[in-house]
Amino acid sequence: MADDTRTFDVAIIGGGIGGTALAAILARNGVRVVMIEAGGHPRFAIGESTVPETIVGLRVLARRYDVPELGYLAGHNTLRRKVSAASGVKRNFGFAYHREGEPFAAEECTQHPTWSPPIGPDSHFFRQDVDAYMFQVALSYGATGLTYTPVTAVDFDSDGATIRTASSGDFRAGFVVDAGGMRSLLGEQLDLRIDPPYRTRSRTIFNHFVGVEPFDRVAPPRKQHLMPSPFSQGTLHHLFEGGWAWVIPFDNHVGTTSQLCSVGINLDIDVYPKRDDETPEEEFWAHVNRFPTIQRQMRAARAVRPYTSSNRSQFASKQIVGDRWALLPHASDFIDPLFSSGLAVTMMILNALGHRLISAVREGDFSVERFEYVQTWTKRSFRYYDDLVSFSYTSWDHFDLWNAWHRVWCLATMYGANAQMQTVMEYEKTRDKAVFDRLEQPPYRGLQAVDNPRFAAMFDAACAAMQAYRDKEIDATEAGHRIHVALKDSELVPSARWTGWRALDPDNRLPTGEFTLWDMTRLLLWGKYASPPHIRGTYFTNGFAGVAKEAGKLYLSELRHGSGLSMQVARDMVSYRNRDWRRVGGLD
Ligand SMILES: Cc1cc2nc3c(=O)[nH]c(=O)nc-3n(C[C@H](O)[C@H](O)[C@H](O)COP(=O)(O)OP(=O)(O)OC[C@H]3O[C@@H](n4cnc5c(N)ncnc54)[C@H](O)[C@@H]3O)c2cc1C
Repeated sequence: MADDTRTFDVAIIGGGIGGTALAAILARNGVRVVMIEAGGHPRFAIGESTVPETIVGLRVLARRYDVPELGYLAGHNTLRRKVSAASGVKRNFGFAYHREGEPFAAEECTQHPTWSPPIGPDSHFFRQDVDAYMFQVALSYGATGLTYTPVTAVDFDSDGATIRTASSGDFRAGFVVDAGGMRSLLGEQLDLRIDPPYRTRSRTIFNHFVGVEPFDRVAPPRKQHLMPSPFSQGTLHHLFEGGWAWVIPFDNHVGTTSQLCSVGINLDIDVYPKRDDETPEEEFWAHVNRFPTIQRQMRAARAVRPYTSSNRSQFASKQIVGDRWALLPHASDFIDPLFSSGLAVTMMILNALGHRLISAVREGDFSVERFEYVQTWTKRSFRYYDDLVSFSYTSWDHFDLWNAWHRVWCLATMYGANAQMQTVMEYEKTRDKAVFDRLEQPPYRGLQAVDNPRFAAMFDAACAAMQAYRDKEIDATEAGHRIHVALKDSELVPSARWTGWRALDPDNRLPTGEFTLWDMTRLLLWGKYASPPHIRGTYFTNGFAGVAKEAGKLYLSELRHGSGLSMQVARDMVSYRNRDWRRVGGLD
């Protein structure tokens, strides 16, 4: 007779955020699941910055699968209160352009604010807290969890799989999900890895630091750069020819328990080939010292861990699902940390995989066809991000070209997140889980509106302009002009008169405007009542009432918990402007 404590419906290799979230979803829905983690919790992990599609994706998962704890990760207010005060707030994506040897010029930056409460703001996940929390959540729903237990092999047969570990013996499961990240065991064992077919060719050097100055202290003041949200309250991207650096502070909100800031430098390997005569630390600081304002920001920074330096960051797999197995996105492919696609694609795929696995277990049918959607949309998403990222590296030849190109992503983010958010709002109204099926139907599949024919046509035209520039057929000004024509022709850019979006004004550096409650109201009203017919009824199907209800709920919950931050939450709903950064972060 099979040993019940060693036999499961689903085994998950890896107890990171992806594996634990899936384990919680499955266990909550009656699936017998074991998650097997090679390390322990808490443990260092990378993948810290969220984007609107990540946090709305978490809201979808929380409701569809009845795991409210996933919803706590979806906004910084609940995250810091219920999960991790050591996680940072992300009120904006800031992009500062640098030229070697020259101080940062105030007029060479762009900003994309994240959504204000109650939908946002986004977060900088302090992954060791978040992953440890989710591990416990999965256990609380009945998952079995093992730590310090590397899986060494998986043997498949017609009934399922035997999962072998060196320290805890063997386990049986009907299906195996590899959530092991880039070092995926199945990727190696089933010989799935291929030469990445991606145009992006980059590598990364990163670490966590103490003593990183808030950029607002070293950059020109707001009245010069004109961006609404303090840079240090978001993910700051330092851009330069052939590369970029992320600055992800965890110590950037009142009430933080952290003094840490994550900094990573990403380099085009054809521009900056890896050298044997430099340590990762030497190379990291050599790049910091090329740019005077970055140097000032890092002048007192001290690393708290050994530096990590990758070879080419991109990897890919020829197959993502097979007979009784599937890979989560980070076990299958990766492009680059830019635009934080990793967690967003993971949440989108968890949504698609969760109900497939639950019904496969209930019906005893794990046939591969049931899981093909997972493969199709993982691959399609990474192909899109490859174009987006690779042409971003190209765009950093000129600030104005970046300012044109990145609008494509701003627009995609708004429609991608809106598709998910309107589904959440529809569910709140109807309590009918069938509404979530819509996310797997055109034009909502995948992320970033890639499934929308108008968006796809605009994106193709913008990519063609960037390719022509890269091939030296046109100059940067012409490429920027063609991107703007594509944006205008798509008729997807919200009306400036209704919403304050300035995405069709080439000189504007805040193309989406802000996302305060007032701005969200204007956008929702435009979408629902005044947008072109191809948008109306497809996006913005829920009006402002749902958002207002959420805002009330969030404010009352802050009051009830006596966190002392209810006034701050109310402030953040109406304005991005604040001076919190003078009180937290850096050396003071
Ligand atoms: C440099 C870099 C920066 C990034 N920045 C971002 C970002 O800012 N935002 C974003 O959204 N994404 C980012 N990503 C992507 C992000 O890291 C991943 O999408 C995310 O971590 C995926 O979570 P996961 O749980 O699937 O995998 P992981 O977080 O990689 O977790 C995998 C787990 O599996 C365990 N494991 C592996 N093999 C075995 C085995 N044989 N047996 C048992 N356990 C095993 C590991 O110990 C680990 O705990 C970044 C990636 C890189 C490389």
